[in-house]
Amino acid sequence: MNAVLVVNADLGPLHRVTVQHAIRMLCRRVAEIHEAEPDRVIGVFPVPRVVRLVRYVVTRWRFSAGPAWSRAGVLRRDGRCCAYCGGPASTIDHILPRSRGGRNTWRNTTAACYECNQRKGDRTPAEAGMPLRREPVTPTWAALAGR
Ligand SMILES: [Zn+2]
Repeated sequence: MNAVLVVNADLGPLHRVTVQHAIRMLCRRVAEIHEAEPDRVIGVFPVPRVVRLVRYVVTRWRFSAGPAWSRAGVLRRDGRCCAYCGGPASTIDHILPRSRGGRNTWRNTTAACYECNQRKGDRTPAEAGMPLRREPVTPTWAALAGR
């Protein structure tokens, strides 16, 4: 299980590693503990939750590519809040419907409640007269890394 979040020297989240991997990074002094489990140690180290790289690593790729799309990620990005009515959302709506070629991308999907999703059906928000309350965007790693 990759339990430890690695953050850049500027605290931008990068990826997750195993506790063992994180400890090796600490031993090699490429990273420092940023946040630890209270009252738990492995050898001389507290059990890390978050380790911070000592040196800043340039990661242009993460700004261009961003995290991979997932349904859970869309719900998390949108705070489980329906893009049409603002109510609690449990479904994913394709802004351009899948039946019309809409794809599973961050910008074409949004959290929606079941009722709005049904009401919108195979229409675009404009056709359905259901304006989006927010523009769907590609989330940052930080937005998805929250616990
Ligand atoms: Zn709704």
